[in-house]
Amino acid sequence: MTELQSCRRCGLAPMRTQVVTGTGSASARLMFTGEAPGKQEDLTGVGFQGSSGKIFDEVLAYLGLTRDDIWLNNAVRCRPTETGQKNRTPLPIEVEACRPWLMADLARVRPVIMVTLGKTAFYAVTGEPDFAQYRGRLYPADPPVFPLAHPAYLIYRRAALGAYRDDLDQLRDLLTTWNIPLNPPRPSRFSS
Ligand code: SF4
Repeated sequence: MTELQSCRRCGLAPMRTQVVTGTGSASARLMFTGEAPGKQEDLTGVGFQGSSGKIFDEVLAYLGLTRDDIWLNNAVRCRPTETGQKNRTPLPIEVEACRPWLMADLARVRPVIMVTLGKTAFYAVTGEPDFAQYRGRLYPADPPVFPLAHPAYLIYRRAALGAYRDDLDQLRDLLTTWNIPLNPPRPSRFSS
């Protein structure tokens, strides 16, 4: 068992079935960071499952990427829940406790850009609480950060699809400008 898999730095440790570690290519030029494992992720040990995982795969399809092209992790690596049934948002103290694991991924993968998925991930990476102000444009950092809304945001908000697509178009243009290889988009809910 690795140091991460046995981590007990915060109060989420007793709630978990297992730590959900990062996955993908360790030489990826893009790192995507989400919020936290949910119930299915906690059971399987694999990040971004279920409805939001399906939308996330469509985000990658629209960008011309696959999970093998990126490094994917979460701001916290253990599932936040009180009851065992319902997920909850990680507390700032849990995000802070888990940040060294995020920094370790960053130091190992050395991406040229990070894409954060949702408010918690953006805060974990930048320390900036005002996600709405920066969503959909490049945030200056080392490496630069591109904040997207969490895919789960779209589950019950079809009206938000157009704005999300605009953000993905911005990101795709940026990646093209930086000569990051992308395949043609595959069909997804974002295809017009
Ligand atoms: S959430 Fe992060 S810091 Fe907290 S116990 Fe899990 S791996 Fe450790």
